[in-house]
Amino acid sequence: MIDFHAHLDLYSDPHSIVKECNARGIYVLSVTTTPSAWEGTSALTTSSARIRTALGLHPQVAHQRKGELDVFNTYLAETKYIGEIGLDGSPEYKVHWDDQLLVFDHILHACACVGGRIMSIHSRRATQTVLEKLEASRDSGVPVLHWFSGSKSDLDRAITLNCWFSVGPAMLSTAKGLDLVSRIPHERLLTETDGPFAQVDGRNALPWDVQQVVVRLATLWNMPLGEVEQKIHLNLRHLVSLL
Ligand SMILES: [Zn+2]
Repeated sequence: MIDFHAHLDLYSDPHSIVKECNARGIYVLSVTTTPSAWEGTSALTTSSARIRTALGLHPQVAHQRKGELDVFNTYLAETKYIGEIGLDGSPEYKVHWDDQLLVFDHILHACACVGGRIMSIHSRRATQTVLEKLEASRDSGVPVLHWFSGSKSDLDRAITLNCWFSVGPAMLSTAKGLDLVSRIPHERLLTETDGPFAQVDGRNALPWDVQQVVVRLATLWNMPLGEVEQKIHLNLRHLVSLL
């Protein structure tokens, strides 16, 4: 199983979640929301061969944490993975749009300067600006759009831009999400939960809930479960080899 976007540090008992991920052999991209959280979050998983920690600055806290860009620069050399980063155009965060742009621009530029990174990107209600930024910063690395919720034409544009996509249970619970997922090329898709933020069956999502996505993909792709699992693993291996 692969959970390519989970906030392990935000669970009430991160150690027990990490332990269970190790026991189940789950590959996890453990994203962070602030640069100052990176050190403690990566320390959670030093003995987990299948868990990688991403250095992030979430767009929803960009206005409060823009002062941590120096901290971001400090840790950038230590990881190949960046996230959660991006833009959020929802009304409550749009008021801090300039700060979001400042932070996102800084991070894309910084990633380009070090030869590129694998980036887990938030684009809620901001898909077009996120894609414009990625188009203008092709050297920043490989974008993985997490929980994509743009239009079909935005999706086509993202595919042309060589974006990847991480898909969670929530995305498969709406007709619109399902339609978008069916249009994503199989070779650019990874599974995720966005736990504990995202909900599954009325509770916080857990990394092993990605199995629900695999089951849905098997139906959508008309493929046996084992083949879907294999495909997602091959995709992860391919993605990691790109940098
Ligand atoms: Zn997230």
